[in-house]
Amino acid sequence: MFSKVLIANRGEIAVRIIRACHEMGVSTVAVYSEADKDALHVSLADESYCIGGAQVADSYLNMAAILTIAVETGAQAIHPGYGLLSENAKFASLCEQCNIAFIGPSSEMISRMGDKDQARKTMRAAGVPVTPGCDVITNADEALAEAEKIGYPLLIKAKAGGGGRGIRLVNSRDEFLNAFRSASGEAQSAFGDGAVYMEKYLNPVKHIEVQILCDKFGNVVCLGERECSVQRKNQKLIEESPSPAINEETRARMMEAAAKAAKAVNYENAGTIEFLLDGDGNFYFMEMNTRLQVEHPVTEMVTGIDLVQWQLRIASGIPLSFNQSDIRLNGHAIECRINAENPDFDFRPSCGRINLLHIPGGPGVRFETAVYQDYFVPPFYDSMIGKLVVHGDTRDQAIRKMKTALSELVIDGIDHNAELQADILMDDRFTSGSYTTSFMAEREAERKDEVK
Ligand code: ADP
Ligand code: ADP
Ligand code: MG
Repeated sequence: MFSKVLIANRGEIAVRIIRACHEMGVSTVAVYSEADKDALHVSLADESYCIGGAQVADSYLNMAAILTIAVETGAQAIHPGYGLLSENAKFASLCEQCNIAFIGPSSEMISRMGDKDQARKTMRAAGVPVTPGCDVITNADEALAEAEKIGYPLLIKAKAGGGGRGIRLVNSRDEFLNAFRSASGEAQSAFGDGAVYMEKYLNPVKHIEVQILCDKFGNVVCLGERECSVQRKNQKLIEESPSPAINEETRARMMEAAAKAAKAVNYENAGTIEFLLDGDGNFYFMEMNTRLQVEHPVTEMVTGIDLVQWQLRIASGIPLSFNQSDIRLNGHAIECRINAENPDFDFRPSCGRINLLHIPGGPGVRFETAVYQDYFVPPFYDSMIGKLVVHGDTRDQAIRKMKTALSELVIDGIDHNAELQADILMDDRFTSGSYTTSFMAEREAERKDEVK
């Protein structure tokens, strides 16, 4: 096992990783931006170094600065968390060149799967069902001709996409050219690559993903699924495990497809295969995330397996100590993302000082956060300031526990979405488990109707 790990991230995920390291007796190096000098990850780590200005381009994406600190402090490995550099093949490759372990798959694997177009081809070749669509097309007229073949509605998606960006829904031929240019423009500015491809828009559909862990010795274990269909603008809001909507047979088929996908590419470390599931039990590969996922705690709560600790063990060359038949999914876990934003004003991000904070507790209640009372939420970063995760014996019990925990949560001084989350938990579509990825859009439309 490594003796020292650098954490190239901030916020709740940096804190989560620091805790995992300390529990394993590994010392930690934090890096931070000028705006984050009072951040929790800075005070929790054994050593902390300022690497640049508030903008992520100057600090958390500053590869040279991060690698310099890693080399100078003698860190043997870097954990990238999620977002930021976690799916950056160049960064993983630079780590490899500096003889520092990148806690994740190889740079080659990251580029192979991060290119969503190539990932679709790889999966198709491996016999994993893929969402119907087409490969990357750069010429707008050719793309239009291809769109006519796929049929409307369809989605235009960025080849290098992530975080819900660079995606456009096209309902008809008239909308196509504008959407094509705008998707490509957003992809160019967000990912530095304007290439887009198309997929048939499946609706109604559920987003269900499978967590995998793979060691350096070819052992692949699937840790069940997460249902992530509560989404706003293609970004997840609530996740749960197991999915309330799939039976044992569908679960087994999805796990088998995920394992097949992982083995086909000789995957290593933690990863997630995202699928779309239609009402007839057909599912389609959507993308693979070659990193730790925001919603990983729900899987930890039902499996009892610490995913971050296993990421470290795998990266240091330790084989998995369990196999597929050892995995038991116990009870039910739900996560609500707590975002600093105002749901009444089109989810406008909020920043400012938290002048009163109460974090809920009790058996089976976990709050992953980096905020504390008097902390100033800076305006520069992601609006997610916490993840409330609960575990119950049954889904009903987990929902009741989540409602209780949400009602206890106090974050004064900034806007947040805890009330909205509590409302969602009371919606029939949520309680029945029948909700699809259109759920939040349906709610929004109903709300507008009520106002009229
Ligand atoms: P998850 O699938 O783990 O829920 P999200 O799609 O919500 O992940 O993204 C996790 C975080 O990473 C978010 O802060 C999101 O904005 C960011 N993110 C995801 N993909 C990218 C990317 N390709 N480039 C930059 N940021 C990204
Ligand atoms: P990202 O890399 O930004 O996470 P994804 O390809 O995972 O992008 O898609 C984000 C979300 O968009 C999915 O979780 C799903 O809700 C929706 N989505 C993606 N592809 C389709 C599709 N072909 N049909 C319907 N919804 C889709
Ligand atoms: Mg995705």
